[in-house]
Amino acid sequence: MDSFLNATLGTFFTPRMEMRLFDKAEKFTAETATAGSVLTYFHEHVHYFQTLFTGYGHIQWSSYRQASGFTLRKWKELWPIMGGPRIPLANCNTRLDVHQYAHYLYLVFAEQNKISQARFITIPGAKTMDALKLTLIKQSWRINPEIATAQGTRELCTKDILEGHAFFLERSFGNQILAIPPDVAWDRSEVPDVYTAAYDWFVERCGESARELFPILCDLSLQVSWEPLIPSTFEEWQASNPSWRFYSLTEALAAAPELIMDMEGGWQERYLAFCDQLLETCQFKGLNQVLSERLQALIDLERHPGISPVQRIMKKALELRIEQPWMSVYPARTQSELIRLFEEFRIPAVLVGGRYQAQSSLDGDMVTELIGELHYQAFNDQLLGNPSASARVTNSIECGFSKFGVHNGCPFQVSGECIGRFDPKEGLPIPMSHDDTGNIDGCTFGALFHYSEIRVEDLLVDYGARFDT
Ligand SMILES: [Zn+2]
Repeated sequence: MDSFLNATLGTFFTPRMEMRLFDKAEKFTAETATAGSVLTYFHEHVHYFQTLFTGYGHIQWSSYRQASGFTLRKWKELWPIMGGPRIPLANCNTRLDVHQYAHYLYLVFAEQNKISQARFITIPGAKTMDALKLTLIKQSWRINPEIATAQGTRELCTKDILEGHAFFLERSFGNQILAIPPDVAWDRSEVPDVYTAAYDWFVERCGESARELFPILCDLSLQVSWEPLIPSTFEEWQASNPSWRFYSLTEALAAAPELIMDMEGGWQERYLAFCDQLLETCQFKGLNQVLSERLQALIDLERHPGISPVQRIMKKALELRIEQPWMSVYPARTQSELIRLFEEFRIPAVLVGGRYQAQSSLDGDMVTELIGELHYQAFNDQLLGNPSASARVTNSIECGFSKFGVHNGCPFQVSGECIGRFDPKEGLPIPMSHDDTGNIDGCTFGALFHYSEIRVEDLLVDYGARFDT
């Protein structure tokens, strides 16, 4: 049999809300979709829902924007004293104090990034926080818990929770919605343990009879509060890292099996009480408290300075989640929930065959935002001193389509009029123009410079520049 249950046919990248599907585009259209491509499409949507509906998802998505927004703002303040926009930060070296400040900006970004990485994957050679050599957190706290598996001890990280959740839902969807027989739907051959380690350990600790609570514990692990921003005790670190939360919640349930919620009948009525009891046992904040904190933050932003189309969807997700606290946790079990999620929260665009494929004609400004984010991250990477190899040797500036491999994303690159990077002194390869209604013609990368008030021709690029430390 075709190994159609293969979760690696797609990827989801939270900071850009970027869903990539690696099969031929026609395999994802309704008439010709195969079971495998439907499952991949569903699996990647679970990651999208994890972003929209959880505290952790909101943090992962916003922290890049916040950190890079700060860098960009401060870098622009340096222009007058260094005679223009110099790239990368290491090239902001007209004076010693300017160079030191640019180095500080670089380190602030790198530090935020390391903390975010530590909350996501295992970092080779770093089991404790002090090994990350941060200035904000110097303690020797264990970054992740260790669990016993059949193959020996294993570090459990947040990626295991995100993938374990998506895999469980994907296979449940295959079995319950696509009617794939259970032994095929749950087949484990050639499935990497990132998809199964958390689940296996959970069942080992809490018993087979609790297996349907697994997606709920995954979700509660992801309901991270943003307070405090920087943890100052080990307990605060644990409460802010989904892997530790999953570990504590599982052990708490194993120690108090009487808490186990019956998943028959109207489990939704018992849902919030079950979650809050378990969260309280671990001294974590209640579910509604975390969701309300996030919602309030978006309401505040909406008042000033306003929110983007993507943030509007994130806000709508929280509003729904506060009303129906189980929403997005285990949608494979309830068809009406599944339909609602795909009607109201389908991702605006996916990348198939190297181009954005809009999922609905209604999401035009969200797609514009996704493309804007792609260019923005490409530019920011270059500002931080991480250009692609070809941009580096030519000291050129590269757009998001080219830097991140969206090969059919721009008509001028498809036609050969543009190679995706340019010498800033020559200006944009294809001019950008826009009308009063905000429609953009020409180079969409140009729009980023336009709205950031950067004159492309002024950019002074030297990727060979170094911080002297
Ligand atoms: Zn996945």
